Amino acid sequence: MAMTINEIYQYVVEQGIEKDPRKREGVEEMLEREKKSYEEMKDEEKKDYDTERLSNPYSDTRILCGDPETEVKRLMVGVDIEVGEVLLADRLAEKGKPVDLLVTHHPEGKALAGLHYVMHMQEDILARYGVPINVAEDIMSSRISEVKRGLMPMNHNRAIDSAKILGIPMLSAHSVADNQVASYLQELFDNEEPRTLGDIIKMLKDIPEYAEAARHNAGPEIIIGNKKRRAGKVLVDMTGGTGGSEDAYEKLSQAGVGTIVGMHIKEGHRKKAEKHHVNVVIAGHMASDSIGMNLLLDGLEKKGVEVIPCSGLIRHKRS
Ligand SMILES: [Zn+2]
Repeated sequence: MAMTINEIYQYVVEQGIEKDPRKREGVEEMLEREKKSYEEMKDEEKKDYDTERLSNPYSDTRILCGDPETEVKRLMVGVDIEVGEVLLADRLAEKGKPVDLLVTHHPEGKALAGLHYVMHMQEDILARYGVPINVAEDIMSSRISEVKRGLMPMNHNRAIDSAKILGIPMLSAHSVADNQVASYLQELFDNEEPRTLGDIIKMLKDIPEYAEAARHNAGPEIIIGNKKRRAGKVLVDMTGGTGGSEDAYEKLSQAGVGTIVGMHIKEGHRKKAEKHHVNVVIAGHMASDSIGMNLLLDGLEKKGVEVIPCSGLIRHKRS
């Protein structure tokens, strides 16, 4: 059995919407607004517009190269697919194990250059946890511009150019996977209501990907607070492109959030969280990205596609 690249792409986008923090209605509303603004564009603006944005709410999830109708029997998937992994796929082909599609979690090419668009998702997450939407939009606005500027000087197409030379198709699946891990953990904490930060760490370490990471010194850690501190209301902050605004911690604290469980945190953000008494648990970057990807890959394997994990992906299958 095989799937086409386009079928895989449609599948991951659909799964992303399924677990989107804005819910399906919120996503549909956003796509509707996008269509309206596209229709109002001048031809000049339409020329550069990526029309995938009309049906796919995730700018960081794209077919990056290759014919979408290509049949995929085997894919190689990593947290980062760089030139090294592209060459690795080509070596595998030489050894009689051709890779039909490279799947990168972290975006490349136009999916990287447009990463900042998905950050608007964070406005809705903040609003869901009690931050007024006007405040959420305002604090995210300057952070989104900052991220956009930070992406501008990058060599976005480097890995894709290598993949094109070797004729290996490539796809990125970022927020669609981050939505999986965020909703998976949020549901877990909402149901179990951990009393302390120690309980949160224990719950995380019961998950195979985190258990594996812990054995490699990359397991979940309490960054602010200690294991005896009470967790209060827990917010899983793992989707929406990249780290949000430093100003969010003050607003979340006021809105009643006790603990944030994230993948990683910048020093400036950590200081703001500490100042505003918000506990922070860092679950781990590669392990968290792996859970998100694994939840998608399980579905693809069920459809008959073989998966070769690489580049930091801790593969664990759930039944
Ligand atoms: Zn990541």
